[in-house]
Amino acid sequence: MTTLVDSFGRIHKDLRISLTDRCNLRCSYCMPAEGLQWLNQADVLSAGEIVRVARLLVQYGGITSVRLTGGEPTVRADLLEIVEQLSQLGVDLSLTTNGTRLVKLAERLKVAGLNRMNISIDSLQPQRFAELTHRDQCEQVLDGINAAVGAGFSAVKLNVVLMRGINDDEILDFLHFGRKHGVIVRFIEFMPLDAHDKWNETLVVPEREILATAGEVFAFTRGERGSAPSSRFFYNDGVGEFGVISSVSAPFCDSCDRIRLTSDGQLRNCLFATRHLDVKSLLRSDTDNETIIQAIRGEVQKKEAGHNIGNVYFVKPSKSMSQIGG
Ligand code: SAM
Ligand code: SF4
Repeated sequence: MTTLVDSFGRIHKDLRISLTDRCNLRCSYCMPAEGLQWLNQADVLSAGEIVRVARLLVQYGGITSVRLTGGEPTVRADLLEIVEQLSQLGVDLSLTTNGTRLVKLAERLKVAGLNRMNISIDSLQPQRFAELTHRDQCEQVLDGINAAVGAGFSAVKLNVVLMRGINDDEILDFLHFGRKHGVIVRFIEFMPLDAHDKWNETLVVPEREILATAGEVFAFTRGERGSAPSSRFFYNDGVGEFGVISSVSAPFCDSCDRIRLTSDGQLRNCLFATRHLDVKSLLRSDTDNETIIQAIRGEVQKKEAGHNIGNVYFVKPSKSMSQIGG
């Protein structure tokens, strides 16, 4: 068997690898201003370990796309080396970053073999950006977006987490920005995965509200979603598209095809999983490839039907988004 299938028959093709739990920003919806207790470096998977797991999953698990994330993946000194090696696997290779280091890195990442780039930015206003991230680096990220577009990636997407009363007045500004700069803006509903329990339902700006605001100015048509988490909306005048990731108001668990490897080597079958497989221990105990892949298959089979946000059965994972890898 060369696919990873859960007990509902869902085939998993998409691997998210968190390269680090560390970050140089402090987004208010993600972690507290003082940061988190970072992992010891000895507990973080090495480049060689990451590439070994990815290769196994591509060769024997049917994984066809790999996204690197974190924490902030660009704080890792061996990022280019990891990208180079993963690009040899013939997968669709992408990166999610806060964009602060892209002026230096965008071109080099393209040369190393990265295909696509998602950049997170939650305000286009420098002062608000600084309040949201506790760092005055809005211009740096905007320059990073330009550098990514200039480097010629097959797609550059912007991730925007919307929070009611905080940045939801920028929906139209972001859409104008996306059309002007040739990038796909994706609005993300705020999820209960922050490290410091700031989440509550009233802060979530649901997809229907986002579409109502967009519709005041733009005409657009809903497109096919497939297994992607984002609903896609194409402007009727042909100038690009935007998306909404409605994990809270309209979960897409039925079509989710993702598994995750955390920076400390936990294989998680869902962003909201409350269990994991300790792949790091297998890697560090001379376990053979066949045993590792069988253990991963078993973990995928245990995936739950859905995440239950918003109902009484929801259990928040003990790790936050930045620690699991968003
Ligand atoms: N540091 C990188 C970045 O910010 O793009 C990668 C890691 S970050 C955890 C990945 C994505 O998760 C970002 O787009 C971020 O906005 C999003 N995110 C973080 N916490 C979130 C939350 N509680 N709800 C929704 N999205 C969240
Ligand atoms: Fe860092 Fe990304 Fe979390 Fe912001 S969302 S604090 S950039 S890990």
